[in-house]
Amino acid sequence: MNKENPTSLIVIFGATGDLAQRKLYPSIYRLYKNGSISKNFAVVGVARRPLSNEEFRANVTKSVSSAANGEGNAEEFSSHFYYHPFDVTSSNSYQQLKDLLGSLDHDYETNGNRIFYLAMAPEFFGTIASNLKAEGLTETAGWKRLVIEKPFGHSLPSAKELNEEIREAFHESEIYRIDHYLGKEMVQNIEVIRFANALFEPLWNNRYISNIQITSSEVLGVEDRGRYYENSGALRDMVQNHMLQMVALLAMEPPIKLNPEEIRSEKVKVLRALRTIEQDEIENYFVRGQYGQGVIAEDTVLGYREENSVDPDSNTETFVAGKLVIDNFRWAGVPIYIRTGKRMYSKSTKIVVQFKDIPMNLYYNLGEKVDPNLLVIHIQPEEGITLHLNAKKSGKDITTTPIKLDYSNNCIDGINTPEAYERLIYDAMRGDMTNFTHWDEVALSWSFIDQVSKAWESKKASDFPNYEAGSTGPKKADELLEKDGFHWWPV
Ligand code: NAP
Repeated sequence: MNKENPTSLIVIFGATGDLAQRKLYPSIYRLYKNGSISKNFAVVGVARRPLSNEEFRANVTKSVSSAANGEGNAEEFSSHFYYHPFDVTSSNSYQQLKDLLGSLDHDYETNGNRIFYLAMAPEFFGTIASNLKAEGLTETAGWKRLVIEKPFGHSLPSAKELNEEIREAFHESEIYRIDHYLGKEMVQNIEVIRFANALFEPLWNNRYISNIQITSSEVLGVEDRGRYYENSGALRDMVQNHMLQMVALLAMEPPIKLNPEEIRSEKVKVLRALRTIEQDEIENYFVRGQYGQGVIAEDTVLGYREENSVDPDSNTETFVAGKLVIDNFRWAGVPIYIRTGKRMYSKSTKIVVQFKDIPMNLYYNLGEKVDPNLLVIHIQPEEGITLHLNAKKSGKDITTTPIKLDYSNNCIDGINTPEAYERLIYDAMRGDMTNFTHWDEVALSWSFIDQVSKAWESKKASDFPNYEAGSTGPKKADELLEKDGFHWWPV
């Protein structure tokens, strides 16, 4: 196998859906255009509605048109696509798919390598995996891999059930659980910033860091995903996966090697060290919120309970703030605050590492306050790093002024950061599992999150809606930090 220019058939279940059209096809197109994948590939799109290959290819061409930017090879790309109308539960459908894969494998010389990408509602994941095995689609001369979208379960018991189902058909080393945050340039950069800079690694502990803040805020509301969101909420949709993955990367010990097993083993230790939140202490650690009406870009927008497919009396949280405590030597006494929400005043994902104050402020007698040093990692939409320092204010007097050292990925000419999905599909094709979530991480994250959701489900939030659309979230989220003597840094 050529590891750098992998060859494979990619079967996408849910080929007519939003994810496939908006993210997967443009990402595969970019890999094709920049020569990352071999020309020996074919994609089989699978979904319910009847479409011919021609109709499907026209849809694919359309969805890659902005990535193709008039280059004229979008049609050549789409000629690698085939459509298979399909019913998830019919064994006949799988048999026909098996025949199609056999003939494409021969035509495109893909060595029997197969990726099964499940871009469908999670209730189908188990059924598809079992049928792929039962109908012989996983018996192939090459490798087989299952790429699976979030959400992976709804709680630890449901995630375990799903895992057992898919493990009947695929080995753990063949299961690529997507957390698209792990495909983001600056999330991958956390490791490099920490482990390739003598300036940071010695300070990366409770002697020098006072707290860490991770914010992921959206301006959009729930849009047309009300039905899904009502069963999920911000805790399951964002915290169980993306936020806890960022926490693990920020807090893990240096792995002995940069390979998937060693990195995972260090991330797992962080998740194991997360202090379990007891039911009666939930209010000391977590705050939930739900947006009400508000004004965004001069337009009045609906509150969550007025959105489509949302219960007018909904108890679902659209905002979560939490204080995480990692009970280990490195992090004892350093709170990690997380915050995520919809309909907030800005779209931004940022990590702020706040360093402790210097032991003695020589400028204090001069009536000067010296700001703490901050390392800000901008994940999206900006990508970069800002270091907040103090320097001398220009002039005759010795007074201080805060300064910022900025590094922005977006400002560098010629840098076109690959989309998260582009990177992840490429990694799945090469068999690199580093940026996918292992079952051990999923299980530990759910067991932490289940404690919070149990406490919340046992008691209806009496103050919902408790933040205005277009704001920074509920007041209680500010109080969570204030009682520890901190405040959220603006994002
Ligand atoms: P979607 O737009 O609702 O698409 C669902 C797909 O499944 C369609 O292609 C649909 O095809 C197919 N389908 C539904 N029922 C079927 C059945 N009984 N048999 C065969 N095919 C069936 O969903 P999506 O937004 O693309 O999301 C797909 C998955 O990705 C979900 O797990 C979601 O949580 C996850 N995800 C999505 C996004 C995103 O940005 N959209 C982001 C992260 C994760 P037909 O209509 O033709 O049947």
